[in-house]
Amino acid sequence: MPDATEPGSYFVANYPPFSRWNAGAVPEVLAAFDAPPTTAAIGLYLHVPFCRKRCKFCYFRVYTDVAAADVERYSQALSAEAALVAARPAVAGRPFRYVYFGGGTPSFLSVKQLERLVDGLHASVGWDAAEEVTFECEPGTLSEPKVRALRALGMTRISLGVENFSDDVLEANGRAHLSAEILRAWEWIQAAGFPSTNVDLIAGMVGETFESWQQTVERTLDLGADSVTIYQMELPFNTVFVRDALDGGDGVPVADWPTKRAWVDWAFDRFLAAGYAISSGYTLVRDPQRVQFRYRDMLWEGSDLVALGVASFGHLSGLHYQNATHWDDYLGAVEAGRLPVARGLEPTRRELLIRETVLGLKRGRLDVSRLREKFGIDPLEEWAAEWRALEASGDLLGVEPDPVLTRQGLLRVDELLPRFFAR
Ligand code: SF4
Repeated sequence: MPDATEPGSYFVANYPPFSRWNAGAVPEVLAAFDAPPTTAAIGLYLHVPFCRKRCKFCYFRVYTDVAAADVERYSQALSAEAALVAARPAVAGRPFRYVYFGGGTPSFLSVKQLERLVDGLHASVGWDAAEEVTFECEPGTLSEPKVRALRALGMTRISLGVENFSDDVLEANGRAHLSAEILRAWEWIQAAGFPSTNVDLIAGMVGETFESWQQTVERTLDLGADSVTIYQMELPFNTVFVRDALDGGDGVPVADWPTKRAWVDWAFDRFLAAGYAISSGYTLVRDPQRVQFRYRDMLWEGSDLVALGVASFGHLSGLHYQNATHWDDYLGAVEAGRLPVARGLEPTRRELLIRETVLGLKRGRLDVSRLREKFGIDPLEEWAAEWRALEASGDLLGVEPDPVLTRQGLLRVDELLPRFFAR
């Protein structure tokens, strides 16, 4: 990886890479829905693809300036899709262990729209047994009644997309909210009594300096969230920043990777000094005994994930899949009573081992005995040369009994993971 933050994406979200997923695998995915389930845990992900404004670094499938009638139509499609999947043998009757409302901006929906959506979903799926129901929020979309409604609708974990506290930085990156909205929203969130609260930050946004980053970290500490997630700014190709740069010929002024790592390193130290513990290369938690990441942990350990919504990613009975990525294709399929699966992949057993190895390493310590038991392969032997190289480069503390990354390794974990990929 070059030091400069060049266009491209280094973040490893899944394995095998999305580039290998294909439409030819759709019949296998549909067959998996119609087959009996495995014994894996199961979760539910709902994609709400609306945003007030497109952030300049965003590469997700999101829609802005959407008419209320389209929001309503989409919500009804989510409920209809939930009914379609809930009737399939692989899903029917299985209690969801976790639920995640992501986007986009789920909090873009009004109280009435949210209530109608949850009512519609509950006609076929419930989450009474869920250990965690996460709801992502953009500060400027919240109101006190909406925050109270979210708690009443069963959300247990609120994740607030703060990203930065400097209004100049927020504006330069095209965020829709400003810092005053963060503080106002936080008061309502605290008053509503969610069992768990998370704040998202991004280190190295355009216009960031070490001073503005320090202030962002200090002000985040003042919030006292149960967990804090820190991403390092990337410049995926399909973003306003990169498109503008390619049109205009100038680079995007984002701090280089060593600088961003140094900033996150500094933030980790500040959070540790304030009593937080490191929970992965991106997360800090205030009380590890109480605050869990059920969505992350179960998903990374191979749970099923039923994906609802346009462009949503799911995993069922060992197969990866993604829903139709365009509005008309997604709605057309669901409204015609069809599952909107558009591509998929059936990984080999070894590829699933690689997936759980690389995702597990993002937590900083690999649970070798779990993988050995599940896959009948010893990751220590399988990647003996890779572990040795990581130890020699100072990215790994050691491998006994489990491989443990150093802070340096943890802060650049996504850069280290491709060495485990199949060649
Ligand atoms: S709020 Fe999130 S999903 Fe929406 S445009 Fe910004 S980064 Fe993308």
